[in-house]
Amino acid sequence: MALLDIRDLDLRIARGRELLPVVQGVSLAVEENETLGIVGESGCGKSLTALAIMGLLEGSVVRIAGGSVHFRGRDLLALSPDERRRVMGDQMAMIFQEPMTSLNPVYRVGDQIREAILQHRRMSRKQARDRALDLLELVRIPDPLRRIDSFPHQMSGGQRQRVMIAMALACDPKLLIADEPTTALDVTVQKEVLELMRSLQARNGMSIVLISHDLGVVSEICDKVAVMYRGKIVEQASTSTLFSNMSHPYTLGLLGSIPSTDHDVEWLDAIPGRVPTLDEAVPGCAFHPRCFAANESCRSADPSASAVSPAHIVRCHFPQGSSS
Ligand code: SF4
Repeated sequence: MALLDIRDLDLRIARGRELLPVVQGVSLAVEENETLGIVGESGCGKSLTALAIMGLLEGSVVRIAGGSVHFRGRDLLALSPDERRRVMGDQMAMIFQEPMTSLNPVYRVGDQIREAILQHRRMSRKQARDRALDLLELVRIPDPLRRIDSFPHQMSGGQRQRVMIAMALACDPKLLIADEPTTALDVTVQKEVLELMRSLQARNGMSIVLISHDLGVVSEICDKVAVMYRGKIVEQASTSTLFSNMSHPYTLGLLGSIPSTDHDVEWLDAIPGRVPTLDEAVPGCAFHPRCFAANESCRSADPSASAVSPAHIVRCHFPQGSSS
């Protein structure tokens, strides 16, 4: 049994009287100690999928229209708000892209970590502060004894993201969902934070869902990858299979837009156009207006997902590469 098992997840957004699909038929599984990367441009449904897993869509305009989300065998979508709160932050935790908007600017970081601990653990405030100190050390904040009393604005972007990771790890979760955790950081700090996540995963034995628009970041720490485009998974495989036999034109486009460190280039290859908005009806394959391989059948029929090799799923009429 997978640690996290998502089947046919459908999310819709209320627009007037209409319910427009934003995530359709998403199925994903994450095993113990595994890292799954979900990659795609903004507006492809990655973050909404994560928020649905965490139960953070309640009260928003987004509705769960179908599917199931099982975590350790329990259907998260069937839990009461109280049961859900007990799971979130304890067995599952999430870190967000911009820590400045997640951390409370008027509380010291140590107090914020302590409160996260006390939400789920019975211990004294002194014990919780000691635990917060241990966590700051664990995420390699320099001089944690002093930093525990700092306010978020007194720390660098990289340090704030480490504080967010410390908060997420407060109760040793089995699953960490990281939504663009390095996007707001410069390249060297980004590398350090990814390295930190990798070492914490090995130490704590947790699974990670890493959401990113950057295929390069995903390739660094993920065991398998799901590529999303306009609310659907268009390619899914182990990281090694994906990189040795990339099949979907959109995945190839994402790869082409990664800057090379080997040689200077004047221009990066960019995928032409943009992700269509929800209001724009696109008949056939949603990627066809941007696809170099599109032909008439792509404009009339939406491709279904099929296996191009064992455990390598592609949603395309004309998969590229050797297995097409
Ligand atoms: Fe491109 Fe056609 Fe495949 Fe869509 S179905 S990704 S348009 S080749």
